Amino acid sequence: VSEACLEHQLATAVGAEHVLLDPDRVASYATDWTRRWTGRPLAVVRPGSTAEVAAVVEICGALDVPIVPQGGNTGLVGGGVPRSDGGQLVLSTSRLTRLDPVDVAAAQVTVGAGVTLGELQRHARAAGFSYSIDLAARDTATVGGTVATNAGGLHVIAAGDTRAQVLGIEAVLADGSVISRLAGLVKDNTGYDLAGLLTGSEGTLGVITAVRLRLAPPAAQSPYVVLVGLPGIEAALPLLRQSGLTAAEFMTDAGMRLVVEATGLPRPLPHDHAVYLLLECTGEPMLPEDVEAAVDQRLWAYREGHTEAIATRGVPHKLDVSVPLARIPALLADLPGVVGEYETYVFGHLGDGNVHVNVLGPAPDDDRMDDAVLRLVAAHGGSISAEHGIGVAKTRWLELSRSPTEIAAMRRIKAALDPRGLLNPGVLLP
Ligand SMILES: Cc1cc2nc3c(=O)[nH]c(=O)nc-3n(C[C@H](O)[C@H](O)[C@H](O)COP(=O)(O)OP(=O)(O)OC[C@H]3O[C@@H](n4cnc5c(N)ncnc54)[C@H](O)[C@@H]3O)c2cc1C
Repeated sequence: VSEACLEHQLATAVGAEHVLLDPDRVASYATDWTRRWTGRPLAVVRPGSTAEVAAVVEICGALDVPIVPQGGNTGLVGGGVPRSDGGQLVLSTSRLTRLDPVDVAAAQVTVGAGVTLGELQRHARAAGFSYSIDLAARDTATVGGTVATNAGGLHVIAAGDTRAQVLGIEAVLADGSVISRLAGLVKDNTGYDLAGLLTGSEGTLGVITAVRLRLAPPAAQSPYVVLVGLPGIEAALPLLRQSGLTAAEFMTDAGMRLVVEATGLPRPLPHDHAVYLLLECTGEPMLPEDVEAAVDQRLWAYREGHTEAIATRGVPHKLDVSVPLARIPALLADLPGVVGEYETYVFGHLGDGNVHVNVLGPAPDDDRMDDAVLRLVAAHGGSISAEHGIGVAKTRWLELSRSPTEIAAMRRIKAALDPRGLLNPGVLLP
């Protein structure tokens, strides 16, 4: 590629100030949140409209330059940063910040891909609604990124994942064509569900530019947030049977100690416990009389502080997995046998059978421990990715969770929509 030619064409399409080449200015787009994945972008381009995204995709197509779509760069599987060969363009969605008025009658809203989750939540609240997807990276993660990864988060148990909120998508496909289906039709059986297909496609099938989302009615009252101290994970499972349960998160003593140290928060309960369960319910949860518990909205800080507290200890290998709920105790019992002496923190969305295994110690490119953990998860009948996606981190193990026939079908979809492999090559499909 003639870099001067690419730069000139991109500058004509989006304005020179939105084509970044200076190594200092592109640095934050080149390394992921965990610092485990780092690459070298050919350039970073920030289109300001769907038409500009289409123009960028066409230019890159003509010059054979692969594109890595990037939202808030909070993804945890390396899918939003370029590879290290210096040949890929980062397409940042940060200027796609359309925020339409809330459609009050339909309880829906159309938002640009670059709007952050936090902005969307505030926008919905101001109109008397809420948006059901929430996660600790809310002020940086974008709507486009959460749709592209089908993010889960804290309330999947009550409201489903991102896919369950998506009613329509606007996206630029690899040939520069635009699909736009933002009417928000609740009933629409007219063939393949392209919005559903693009949701969770991790930037490999199209660049999402806007989304039509379902909103929820506001909660009648503030929910109860209860933190319970327990002797082990087995004791947590029966406590999930609560009416009006909207979140059920677990932590262990090691993670709790780390969060307390990193944040300066006081210990949440008078005694230490092997396992902590945080329950959020619309009504008062039913608890056994002999458990130690505290009730306070602010207890969320102990759970939400985990990811950042772990990052203060080094570059973690993050393995976001799920198993059938009944297998969680067995999985946690078997984990020490495969991670060995490495410093390990486990926590997660217990109600969804979702465990975040965080291991510190192995070099970023040493994935032997990852291999052992993911095989253990598969042996317990689980999924190698619960909510973060496959990215570049887990392509090698996709076959543990998807059959050869499914992978072949996914490859055919990719080949049909992006025959030249322009969009996020190396991500998702091995
Ligand atoms: C502290 C913390 C807590 C987190 N908690 C959760 C959690 O509870 N649940 C959860 O699911 N995740 C969680 N995450 C992970 C992360 O926030 C989500 O994966 C989020 O969806 C990523 O959004 P993003 O805008 O940062 O996307 P990026 O990191 O920029 O990109 C992620 C992927 O999506 C693609 N992509 C981004 N935007 C677009 C677009 N417009 N069109 C096409 N492809 C696109 C990228 O190419 C990449 O493959 C957490 C992360 C952090 C740092």
